[in-house]
Amino acid sequence: MLGDCGGSFIAALDVGTTTVRCQIFNSSADTVGAAQKQIRLHYPHPGWVEMKPDEIFADILQVIRNAVETAKIPYAQIKSLGISTQRATFVTWKKDTGECLHNFITWKDLRAREFLNALNASWRMIFFRFGALLIYWLTRNKKFGMGSKLKIMSSHVSGRFLWVLQNIESVKKALKSDNLMFGTLETWLIYKLTGSCQYVTDISNASATGFYDPFDLNWGTVAKLLRIPVRCLPMVVENDYDFGNVDESFFGVPIKIACVMADQSSSMIGSCCFANNDLKITLGTGAFLNVNTADKIQPSLNGMYPLIAWQLGKDLVYMSEVPCPDAGSLVEWLQNAGFICEASTSSQLAASVEDSDGVFFIPAFSGLGPPISNENAGTGFIGIKPTTRREHIVRAVLESIVYRMVLCYDLLKSERNANYNSIRVDGGLSNSSFICQSLADMSRLPVTKMETTDITVLGVAYLSGLKCGFWSNKEDLTKLKKVTESFEPTRDQNKIEMNKNNLNLWIRAARRFYSWY
Ligand code: ADP
Repeated sequence: MLGDCGGSFIAALDVGTTTVRCQIFNSSADTVGAAQKQIRLHYPHPGWVEMKPDEIFADILQVIRNAVETAKIPYAQIKSLGISTQRATFVTWKKDTGECLHNFITWKDLRAREFLNALNASWRMIFFRFGALLIYWLTRNKKFGMGSKLKIMSSHVSGRFLWVLQNIESVKKALKSDNLMFGTLETWLIYKLTGSCQYVTDISNASATGFYDPFDLNWGTVAKLLRIPVRCLPMVVENDYDFGNVDESFFGVPIKIACVMADQSSSMIGSCCFANNDLKITLGTGAFLNVNTADKIQPSLNGMYPLIAWQLGKDLVYMSEVPCPDAGSLVEWLQNAGFICEASTSSQLAASVEDSDGVFFIPAFSGLGPPISNENAGTGFIGIKPTTRREHIVRAVLESIVYRMVLCYDLLKSERNANYNSIRVDGGLSNSSFICQSLADMSRLPVTKMETTDITVLGVAYLSGLKCGFWSNKEDLTKLKKVTESFEPTRDQNKIEMNKNNLNLWIRAARRFYSWY
C-alpha cells in the first residue's frame, strides 16, 4: 500500500436517486470532508418521475464545493474525481447548442407502461424471447428454463426512449436533422463537466440501458430489434478511460475525472465483491441484489439480468442483478404518510412488536420486479384488523422489503447454483438493524455491513485511488475494508418455520394485487 500521497486527496461523487453526495478521501480511505443534498424529483403526471437538468447540475456542483469546504483543502490538492451515477435515467439534447429537449426521465418513470405492454405482447418480442430461450438452452448444457418471463420493463431505458422519440416533437425534429444526442445521466454529466469535450458512456452504464449487447459488446441486436437510432448514442468506453478534466471554470483548477461507473457496479467495488459469487444487496431507494459472475455471462429467463460490472483496461467482469424497484422509497412513504417522523425510527418501531398482527404489505409503487415481474401490480395492505397499530403497519412495510429480497435471493439460487457465504449490504436502508437481521434469518446467510453505508461513493473512490496511485491493487483495497456489524441467521427452528410460513402468506397476498393497473 502506498502511504504518503503528498497531501493529496480524491473526490468521489455519487448521484443517487434520493441523494447527491460527495466525499473527500485521503490515502487511508478515511473521509476527510463530505456533503450531500436531497435530489428534487418532479412528478408532472401520475407515474412520471423527472429531474430537471439545470437543477441537478447546480446541486452537483454545490455538493462538490461543500464537500471540499468541509475538508478544508484547496481544490489543487484534489488529485482526481470519481463519479458514480444512478442508472437508466436519461435525457436528450441538441448537438449544436447543448440545449436539453426535456427533463431527465428517471428509471422510476412509468410513462411507457402501456406502450411496453403492447410491445411485450408483439411478434418482435416473441421472436426476442425465442432467441433468448435458444441462448439459454445452448449455454445451459441444453437444459430448458422455466419458460421465459423476459420482458422489457419501464426501468429499462428502451421503452421510455422510444416513447420520447415518438411523442416529443423537438426530439423528432433533432433526430431528423441528425442533431440529437442521447445520454444517460453520467454521459450528460461528463459532457457538461468537460465543457462539451467528451461524449461517452461507460460500459457499466451502457449495459444497464437494456439495449447494449453484453455478448457482442456493442449497441447491437436489441437496439436494432427495437429500432433505436444507434447514430445518436454515445461511444462506449471502459470505466477507467481517460475522461479528461473537469473544466477549470467550475472549480478554478482542472480536476481529472479518473473513473465513471454505474451505482451498483461501484457498490460492488466498494464492498470488495471482486471474486466469483461474491454477493451484495444495496438497499437504497430501490434494492439491487448483485452477484459477481467473473468472466461469464449468466443468462436468465426469469428476470436476473446479466450486466457488465466493470471494465478496467482489458479486464472485463460480469455480474447478475435482481432488481427490486421499491425499498427506501417505502420508508419515505411511511414518513410522508405520517407513520414515522424519521427513517431511522422505523427499525425500532418495527421491532417493538412481536409480529405484524397478520398484516401484509405489497410494495408495488413501481410494480413488482423479478421473480414476480408484474409491472401492473397495485400497492396495498391486506389483513388489517381493529387491533392493528402504527407499529404493525411499519413492521409490515419493512417485512415486505425483506420478503422481496428473499425472493430475489431464491431466484439467484435457482438460476445459479453456487456457494454463497454471506450477503454484504449497503445503502441507506442497511442502517436498519431490523431489515439486516430479518434478511439474515430468512436467507440463512450472515449479513455483513461495513463501517460506512455509502459504499457506492467508496467504490469510485477506490477506483480513483487505484488510478492515481493511492493504492496498488485490489488486495490493498480489501485490507482497507472495515466490517462493522455481522447479523447471524437465527438457529431457532420455530422462528425459521414461522418465517417460511409468513413468506408463503405474503406470496399469497401479493397474488391478489397482480395486474391491478
Ligand atoms: P439512493 O442512493 O438511492 O439515493 P440511499 O442509499 O441514500 O439511496 O438510501 C436512501 C433511503 O434509505 C431513503 O429512502 C431512506 O428512507 C432510507 N434510510 C436511510 N436511513 C435509514 C434508516 N436508519 N432506517 C431505514 N431507512 C433508512
